[in-house]
Amino acid sequence: MNAAAVIAFLLITSAYLEFELKDLLLAESTRDLETRARMARELLGGSDGDMQANVLRAAEVSGTRVTVITRDGAVRADSEAMAADMDDHGSRPEVSQALKTGYGSAIRFSGTRGAEFLYVAIADTDKPETDVIRVAMPMRQLSRRLEVVQDSIYITVGVLLIVGLALSFVLSRYVVRPIEVMRAAAGEFARGNLDVKVEMARRDELGELVGAFNSMGRELQNRVGQLEANRREISTIMDNMSEGLLLVDATGNVVLANKAAAQLLNAGDDSMEGHALWESVRLPEVDELLGSLPKLTEPRRIWVEDRTHGAQRRVLAFVATPLFDTAGGEQHAVILISDATEDQKLLEMRQDFVANVSHELKTPLTSISAYVETLLDGAADDESVREPFLRKIQANTSRLSKLVSDILNLSRLESDVGEESRQHLDLNELARDCVSKHREGADEKGVTVTLHPTDKPAVALVNEEDMLEALDNLVVNAISYTQAGGSVEVRVKRSETGLVLEVADTGSGIPQDALTRVFERFYRVDKARSRALGGTGLGLAIVKHVAIKHGGSVKAESEVGKGSTFRITLPASKG
Ligand code: ADP
Repeated sequence: MNAAAVIAFLLITSAYLEFELKDLLLAESTRDLETRARMARELLGGSDGDMQANVLRAAEVSGTRVTVITRDGAVRADSEAMAADMDDHGSRPEVSQALKTGYGSAIRFSGTRGAEFLYVAIADTDKPETDVIRVAMPMRQLSRRLEVVQDSIYITVGVLLIVGLALSFVLSRYVVRPIEVMRAAAGEFARGNLDVKVEMARRDELGELVGAFNSMGRELQNRVGQLEANRREISTIMDNMSEGLLLVDATGNVVLANKAAAQLLNAGDDSMEGHALWESVRLPEVDELLGSLPKLTEPRRIWVEDRTHGAQRRVLAFVATPLFDTAGGEQHAVILISDATEDQKLLEMRQDFVANVSHELKTPLTSISAYVETLLDGAADDESVREPFLRKIQANTSRLSKLVSDILNLSRLESDVGEESRQHLDLNELARDCVSKHREGADEKGVTVTLHPTDKPAVALVNEEDMLEALDNLVVNAISYTQAGGSVEVRVKRSETGLVLEVADTGSGIPQDALTRVFERFYRVDKARSRALGGTGLGLAIVKHVAIKHGGSVKAESEVGKGSTFRITLPASKG
């Protein structure tokens, strides 16, 4: 490229020089011929005699061919031809020009000499009687001079060409090529290939530039690697989060979404990123939350019942936190989504429980207060009323106290303490204690209670107090809901999975639809009957909690009118 430019430049320069020199030479030669013509005219003017001899002398002195032509065009004498042989010269361009202006010149072919000549003719315009003097020089002579100059031009150009090419080679080898290499490497950088390294063993500025370039590449590679590691770390964290995480911009478009978000919102396989959030979440509450984002100054939490999820009830919690200092200065918001169905259930259960407890406490308290008021109003003086009223008050207070102790028991069992107070216990012993405790009451009611222990000890790791409470509740229920003449069987058994405490009665039984609910707090099949029997509605809830706390479970089977069987299954002790 460089070499071609140098050659082209030199060729154009030499052509131009040649052209200019030719012009210059011609002008100079013409001027020279004019001087010679004047010299010849001087010589001819001062001499007499033989014109031919004079012309020859003038030609010799002036060093050119001299021709004397009369004003009417006839050749009087010529230093190199016989005038008589020569035709009329008045029409020769140099002659006709000289006749008009006193001076004429022309380059043309000479018929007389058979070669190309440069002619210059002069005529003295002040003296019309004088002849036209013409001198001529063969063009060959001019060409020879030109050739000499041309040769020196060619030599100069040749030298310049060699120097230029050498310079261009040096320039391209030491300056242009390294820059080319670096440009290519920079191109690779731009395409994301940061492994490129420029190899160049030079100690000059270019070498330093290459060094700086390579270290820039290394630094870029480090930074990109670091960014990539950060990105991977963040995306691993995001994808392993159980909460859904969304980053939305001010227009409600999803900028970032993790897997959990797509799962919780049932967004399917399509990426949520780059789409408006409403495309995947069709819940008016979320639309409203998005609408409020620009005004948010602190996190806002909402709970939404997801009705799009099918038959199963599901509650989603959305926490929107505004972000103000994002890189682009836009207002983005992070939205955390979690499945709050269980939390919501627990909350509702707690609310129900508080309402139930208040209700259960209120009933005995109301009747106590009514009896006390009646007594105060004078009934206390009436012996026949005082005694039964006081007994009613006593019954209600013991009911209250049973209620409170059941509630406390339940809350203690729920708060998951007591593991440390467990011991290896033979369940036969536990059942024996329980049965003997209630035998008297059962006998009074006319219900037989029988214990069926295992042959060998059935040892389980249990909290004695809790397990006794559970078994007590089952046995008390069995006796309570069985009429006189009926029976209650308490069995300790071994099963494939562990040990079983079974309480079966021949009592009233429980309808099938109520069977799954009897373990709920305060659930009773027949409220009035349960109350009359002194029940709190918490007995089976306590049994269930005790069983679960011991790693076991409780099940009920029943047939109305025939009786019920409750079975606590416990893992056998390994110790
Ligand atoms: P309660 O204090 O009312 O007995 P529980 O939680 O112990 O409360 O029992 C819940 C309900 O289950 C009782 O109200 C009763 O209707 C029913 N139930 C429990 N055990 C029996 C049983 N052995 N036979 C018939 N019904 C029973």
